Amino acid sequence: MTPAARRTAPPPLSAGATTLCTGETQLRTGATTLRTGETQLSAGATPPSTIAQLLQNGARALESRSDSPRLDAELLLGKILGLSRSGLIARGNDPVAAGHERAYVSLIEQRRRGVPIAYLTGTREFWSLALRVTPAVLVPRPETELLVELALQRLPEQQAGPSVDRARSILDLGTGSGAIALAIASERPGARVLGVDISPSALEVAIQNSRDLGLAHVDWRLGSWFAAVPGERFDVIVANPPYVAAADPALENLRAEPAIALCGGPTGLEALSAIAGAAAPHLHDEGWLILEHGSDQAPDVARLLERHGFTRVRSHLDFSGKPRVTLGTVHSPHQETT
Ligand code: GLN
Repeated sequence: MTPAARRTAPPPLSAGATTLCTGETQLRTGATTLRTGETQLSAGATPPSTIAQLLQNGARALESRSDSPRLDAELLLGKILGLSRSGLIARGNDPVAAGHERAYVSLIEQRRRGVPIAYLTGTREFWSLALRVTPAVLVPRPETELLVELALQRLPEQQAGPSVDRARSILDLGTGSGAIALAIASERPGARVLGVDISPSALEVAIQNSRDLGLAHVDWRLGSWFAAVPGERFDVIVANPPYVAAADPALENLRAEPAIALCGGPTGLEALSAIAGAAAPHLHDEGWLILEHGSDQAPDVARLLERHGFTRVRSHLDFSGKPRVTLGTVHSPHQETT
């Protein structure tokens, strides 16, 4: 989990039955009200609130729930009013219509309950791409950009022309919003990129993102890990699979996100192990498998890769200095002929 997610610890939504690993990730709408100072919802007596007042009240309401309360308030009000953050500041004294204020208060309230800001605004930036996100997909994390960097280092830029034997191919397993596949595709226009996900609603988000971004050279397939690509080989296989252990208290802070994208099973290593165990026959000779994992899972993932015949196995640190990605390569020339 991210350090930010750890610090942002909203109160439990419902007592007891947190069955995140079974997919019950519904946020209950409760009776908490957001009535701080000038944020009057009742029509009539009081004059309309200004942009500056709403930002102040929203930020105050989020203080104990978010690492970036002011930024969150600005993003949410900006979304409702169709204004940039600088536009909000410039028009701080403008009155806000009651309907807009109500919509804003509702978003602030959802944020207080732990809904990620990206679900409330509907977008998230990843690798400088504006991605659409819905609760059907994991919110792309900045540390996952390390996976993209490591993949790109292993995918030389290709010039079109007769000297090129074949386009490089990349498989992204459990693609979710398509973040990793699309980031790689945006950097390697000549490559063949394929994103796979078991969730139809996640795949819809990925497909919509590829259309919005005009990255038409990405293909998408529905299915479970390698079952979606029988007999196919790739130069690079990347995955950010679910790797949080079922009993990890971190899940409590992630309950707005799809359990299927987060929870790997009792140990958290189940999906990583399934992928590491089945990847080699899907790699070209000297192809790479690159896996994101929890910051305490690097030795386990390295062992998994070695056990399945991978060499040059190495773990890499994310921007906060935590081991986050482990990779390895296979040398299996005989497989090229099969
Ligand atoms: N990085 C996520 C988190 O812990 C987990 C993502 C995953 O399980 N793939 O916040």
